[in-house]
Amino acid sequence: MAFSGPVSASPYSYKCASGALTCDASSNRKAKVTSFSFLPFQHPPIYNFISHVPSSYPSADVSVDESLEKGQLPKGHNWSIHKFGGTCVGNSQRIGNVVEIVIKDDSERKLVVVSAMSKVTDMMYDLVDKAQSRDDSYVSALETILDKHKSTAIDLLDGDELASFLSRLHYDINNLKAMLRAIYIAGHATESFSDFVVGHGELWSAQMLSSVIRKSGVDCTWMDTRSVLIVNPVSSTLVDPDYLGSEKGLEKWFSENPSKTIIATGFIASTPQNIPTTLKRDGSDFSAAIMAALLRARQITIWTDVDGVYSADPRKVSEAVILKTLSYQEAWEMSYFGANVLHPRTMIPVMQYDIPIVIRNIFNLSAPGTIICRHSVSENEDRQSLESPVKGFATIDNLALVNVEGTGMAGVPGTASAIFGVVKDVGANVIMISQASSEHSVCFAVPEKEVKVVADALEARFQQALGAGRLSQVAVIPNCSILAAVGQKMASTPGVSATLFSALAKANINVRAIAQGCSEYNITVVVKREECVKALRAVHSRFYLSRTTIAMGIIGPGLIGSTLLDQLRDQVLLDLLISHIHGSGPQGKISHDLRIAGSRTMLLNETSIDLSRWKEVQKDKGEKADLRKFVQHVHGNHFIPNTVLVDCTADSEVASHYYDWLRQGIHVITPNKKANSGPLEQYLKLRALQRQSYAHYFYEATVGAGLPVITTLQSVLETGDKILRVEGIFSGTLSFIFNNFIGARAFSDVVREAKEAGYTEPDPRDDLSGADVARKVIILARESGLKLELSDIPVENLVPEPLRVSASGEEFLQQLPQFDQLMAEKQQDASEAGEVLRYVGVVDAVNQNGAVELRRYKKDHPFAQLSGSDNIIAFTTERYAKQPLIVRGPGAGAEVTAGGVFSDVLRLASYLGAPS
Ligand code: ADP
Ligand code: ASP
Ligand code: MG
Repeated sequence: MAFSGPVSASPYSYKCASGALTCDASSNRKAKVTSFSFLPFQHPPIYNFISHVPSSYPSADVSVDESLEKGQLPKGHNWSIHKFGGTCVGNSQRIGNVVEIVIKDDSERKLVVVSAMSKVTDMMYDLVDKAQSRDDSYVSALETILDKHKSTAIDLLDGDELASFLSRLHYDINNLKAMLRAIYIAGHATESFSDFVVGHGELWSAQMLSSVIRKSGVDCTWMDTRSVLIVNPVSSTLVDPDYLGSEKGLEKWFSENPSKTIIATGFIASTPQNIPTTLKRDGSDFSAAIMAALLRARQITIWTDVDGVYSADPRKVSEAVILKTLSYQEAWEMSYFGANVLHPRTMIPVMQYDIPIVIRNIFNLSAPGTIICRHSVSENEDRQSLESPVKGFATIDNLALVNVEGTGMAGVPGTASAIFGVVKDVGANVIMISQASSEHSVCFAVPEKEVKVVADALEARFQQALGAGRLSQVAVIPNCSILAAVGQKMASTPGVSATLFSALAKANINVRAIAQGCSEYNITVVVKREECVKALRAVHSRFYLSRTTIAMGIIGPGLIGSTLLDQLRDQVLLDLLISHIHGSGPQGKISHDLRIAGSRTMLLNETSIDLSRWKEVQKDKGEKADLRKFVQHVHGNHFIPNTVLVDCTADSEVASHYYDWLRQGIHVITPNKKANSGPLEQYLKLRALQRQSYAHYFYEATVGAGLPVITTLQSVLETGDKILRVEGIFSGTLSFIFNNFIGARAFSDVVREAKEAGYTEPDPRDDLSGADVARKVIILARESGLKLELSDIPVENLVPEPLRVSASGEEFLQQLPQFDQLMAEKQQDASEAGEVLRYVGVVDAVNQNGAVELRRYKKDHPFAQLSGSDNIIAFTTERYAKQPLIVRGPGAGAEVTAGGVFSDVLRLASYLGAPS
């Protein structure tokens, strides 16, 4: 494009000429510096490129040293490099803080690399976009940029410094206006035009900062790095530094400006042809690293707005922890895979000189930050590296997978190279590759915006192979994200990928592609974009032992449900219970994200419900109960890796949904006996599904409330033992009644006492009928492997036949004394034989049957020793054949039942990765 505009003589030694931006001769630089790339770094088509970076560079770097020795530039540890990101210089007050930090650094020599004020680079890119799309609002947008810098300068400067800065600013703005006008007319900006425009943010921030430092009495010079740094463009997102040329530029600059405090522009540089360019987005970190390498500096401090490098993006994982140390490789992998706290190439220039990089927070000077160096600091000091082989996780969004598939690929040399040749020709950036060893398919990830061109080019290139059927398809899978786990210790630790994948499976996340380099510094998985944050949280909590967040929906906040809510509330307040049960420190917590549904109303909050006020909130904000909507709401949150529904009802309709919920990956916890004691076929289906899926189904509180009855039975079976018989007193009410039915007491008296003490159901016949005990027996029978229906269990009903039809519980109690004689006789007979009466449930695994009945036990039998409303369950197994294994304790009441449910919730949390 021909461009000649009203451009005045530049204070920066650049002027515009036809066709492109070139520099004038004043820089004295040879037209073409021998292009010598310090490190032949191509953007890696293979995701774990860093492992191939040699630990010391090839012979080429020797010449760098020799040439530097000849120059005047002092190099070495007396140089300290700082880099201040955009937010650090976002306004006048923040620039003031930066000045303080620079002045306080007592190093002999300081070079400070500075980014544009926050958002300015975005605004500059926007100017170019507006101009090339012929939107004349670029004019007012440019005014806004001018005002921002002008007002900041007025705040900070005065006198000559202010006048000089403003004059340069106006000069630049006029030039930009002309240039943008030209872009507007042409409707197009070349890359060099665009680079020239966007680099102004750094020119202004560096000049402002150096003026303010000078104002505080420190001698200081600003450096326009376009006259120092030389880079060779590689692609629209990548440049390679020319270290030799840059070093010469630096020597020359320094001979003319021998300052001990230098404020250098980040981001901008020149091509070997002296055309202004940039190090591309976020390139200021890279600028600082190149400067540090050229000066052999002692250290680089990168100042930003977070306390250091976190184990995951803190905006996505609130429990992410600061990593004290990272190796260069780890930092590279983290940043390459999306941890944008650092530009991925920052490590490359500094690693050969072992220059440490420290990431620090300008807003929190007390935080020590993260040190990036060759070896992460002594493992003892770094708790994370001791505990977790994975250092951190990072994600890249907006990707698409391309899958080239076909039987004709196997064993045909050159297919992969042909595929990637095509990708290279269209200039797309391959972020990850995965190829199965069958060579049946090659799958790779590219940025979503590049996928169409890639797919079209592949189809064109392989038209013949596709036509002949050697290739079956070039498929595009859109809306993907990459999740990478990074850590040098992964290489020597078996089982890391197993843990990673099981955490993903438990969160019900489907993995679409996988790659692991043989360096084992990272494992990369491709997941659906909308599941990426959920996946990130699931794996993070698994490896970092952070809180396991579970979306929890409680159905039926009746007596048990509300007791559970109280227990959860107390745990939240004290954190003690869970810490204690988990035997871990304060990290060992679950956090819940709670919703509540009752039979009439439900409470759907966007955030977790305040447990101390849930009743009032439900009253005020409760809406009409709708189970489907409720489940959708609890499970629909894409950010919480796991969902559990806690069914605290006794309802078979609610229980009939368990199968569907488990199939959707929702965990189910319940004290409701209906599902496990319902029709056998449904039960078997449910258990088969549970075994296949990663969703958990826990129902400890269905038998013996909080007593470990189900888990004891399961662990007996899991260890290879065989159940012979389970016999027990499973009803707290009937336990109380028969424990107190002694001496001359009438049976009806004892029943009334039990009712008054709150031990019975409102209608005591619900206990005396034995139906509830029968459900517990069937649950245990099925757990022991017996295929029985509820109707197969004969039940001795303690309600006298004529009273089964009386109207109410009260009426029944009034009439019960008429039948006392019968029970008294049974009791007397037993007593005379030295025995007691107990109402028990029996599972006879040997004869494959069960029963619920009144039986007599010798007075020294454990069942005869019971008191209060305790339950007692005896397991006779092949190993416990002579003496049964006995579980005994309070087995009824809201507190212990809710406690049983709570312990299932904790078990779930620990299965899902909370500390154990
Ligand atoms: P600057 O302008 O200072 O260069 P950036 O915005 O480029 O700052 O980088 C800092 C940001 O990187 C943080 O604010 C944070 O939101 C984001 N970030 C993403 N991943 C991580 C991570 N793993 N650790 C720390 N910060 C991260
Ligand atoms: N200002 C540039 C950008 O925003 C460079 C940087 O801040 O690192 O991309
Ligand atoms: Mg940055």
